[in-house]
Amino acid sequence: MGDNVGTVVGIDLGTTNSLISVFTDEGSVLIPNGSGKYLTPSVVGLSDKKDIIVGETARHRLVSHPKLTAARFKRYMGTQREFKLGKKSFRAEDLSALVLKSLKSDAEAHLGCPVERAIISVPAYFNDVQRKATYAAGKIAGLKVERLINEPTAAALAYGLNSVEEEDTFLVVDLGGGTFDVSILEIFSGVMEVRSSAGDAFLGGEDFTDVIVKEFEAQLGKEADKLDDIKKGLLRDLANRAKMKLSQSDDVTVRFQNKKSEKSLTLKREHFEEITKKLQDRLRKPIQRAIMDAGMRAEDIDRVVMVGGATRMPVIRKIVTRLLKVFPEHSLDPDEVIALGSAVQAGLLTRHKALDEIVMTDVCPFTLGTDVAVQTSATTYETGHFQPVIERNTVIPASRVVRNATLQKGQQKLELTIYQGESPRVIENVRLGTITKYVPINHTGYEEVDIRFTYDVSGVLEVLVTSVSDQKTQRVVIEGNPGSLSQSDIDKRFKELAKLKIHPKDKSENAELMARLKAAYESHLGDLRTHINHLLTQFETVLEKQNDTDIQLMRSELRTWLDELDAADVF
Ligand code: AMP
Repeated sequence: MGDNVGTVVGIDLGTTNSLISVFTDEGSVLIPNGSGKYLTPSVVGLSDKKDIIVGETARHRLVSHPKLTAARFKRYMGTQREFKLGKKSFRAEDLSALVLKSLKSDAEAHLGCPVERAIISVPAYFNDVQRKATYAAGKIAGLKVERLINEPTAAALAYGLNSVEEEDTFLVVDLGGGTFDVSILEIFSGVMEVRSSAGDAFLGGEDFTDVIVKEFEAQLGKEADKLDDIKKGLLRDLANRAKMKLSQSDDVTVRFQNKKSEKSLTLKREHFEEITKKLQDRLRKPIQRAIMDAGMRAEDIDRVVMVGGATRMPVIRKIVTRLLKVFPEHSLDPDEVIALGSAVQAGLLTRHKALDEIVMTDVCPFTLGTDVAVQTSATTYETGHFQPVIERNTVIPASRVVRNATLQKGQQKLELTIYQGESPRVIENVRLGTITKYVPINHTGYEEVDIRFTYDVSGVLEVLVTSVSDQKTQRVVIEGNPGSLSQSDIDKRFKELAKLKIHPKDKSENAELMARLKAAYESHLGDLRTHINHLLTQFETVLEKQNDTDIQLMRSELRTWLDELDAADVF
């Protein structure tokens, strides 16, 4: 793999799965995890011995040990929400850091060198707080986050490299587990420019799964009200698999086993498409807005690229084709595109010779500004108005300044609140934090201040406020945001995480199979259950004897058997 000194990896830190990749002379290359797979489920749990487990093993334990396992935490980045794993509490940043740590150690094992620098992808719609939280997660994991890359930008980079010579307008549709992003990018003479981004931070494949869960609960009737957490997890797992099956078949049947009964639950693709109409409708608006913001019409779009596992649903492709009159491309695996593109960005950062021709610019996906009072009469002011400083879709890095003045003579300080959003009233926008700037006391006139917003390539905001009369600048750290972690918080969490015992890698395959067997035990009844129990005991005995050949043989047999069992539950 050549010289890996100063290797920069690309990381797709997804809601459902995460991937890690590196740019080499052969282009972007995905790095497999300890189990030889590219996709590491973004799931973290505690083992029975209270060790941390990450990935596939943890995912299997979602069903059997829901109270010791956490998933889908990406959407809570930058919030104060705590996830309880047994008695321990974690924030989304901590859990993401554990996923990042696991990817980092997989990459180190595979590349044979330390991995300390990374590019991490985030949804274009992640706000400033969520971006800073992603940086924090990287730091907690012991990674220097060189920059964040918007997921659709990464996608276009992965696809765009083939067509550097051409002039193309791309529309990237990214429907992942929890987020929906649309971006329009233009490529001309080796310059890739993101023209616009739009999206919905609370729409993803998991919402389609939720609808199926409701449908299945309706089919179960009263029985659904009495399900415990384990059975609920099982039903959700079946619903998710039913959703995937419906991407290939017209109908699906799943077998749900509860207490002493077994029920067949069915769903036709046509009905699935009817009951998810509301979700489908929410896809249209961001697509239309992205086109409008780019100053384009639907006809101007040359290529449509699909990213994210949920774009495998035929209905998504149908909607996009109908709206844009272009058939979407999916030559790259929609699960892998973002990681591949993030590695291209890593290659650009390290000035890899294969990427000489490429330059890239990106845009700020939302408007950033402050609150301002507007004069309504000689003596009255109305507060709560939004004053944009950096407008949506400005090419970044960007730095813009606005001048404001105190409202009263003799005023000592100015209190500003920073917002992100598109509404003229701040109350409808996202509050990023408040800042206080002391100004020279002036009893005869008003004091002016220059407010400078600088938005860097990762989409992270810095605010500088200068009082005009004395030219004193205050570099203001945005405070008062309950979601943000301070540097000392980050350092503390880094130390705490380092103390946690991570489940040993060589044992993780065995643990994964044990977890799968236990999950299968939970979800089946009767003779099959007894047989699974028998297999569990047998596997434990083989593990105790510590003969590697026997262990490998039994692992491979168990895997085949469990795969067949899984297939028999969803058909
Ligand atoms: P991502 O965050 O990109 O990994 O997206 C994962 C989402 O895609 C999850 O909600 C999956 O259930 C969904 N997904 C993956 N494969 C399929 C499929 N074949 N059909 C429908 N949805 C899928």
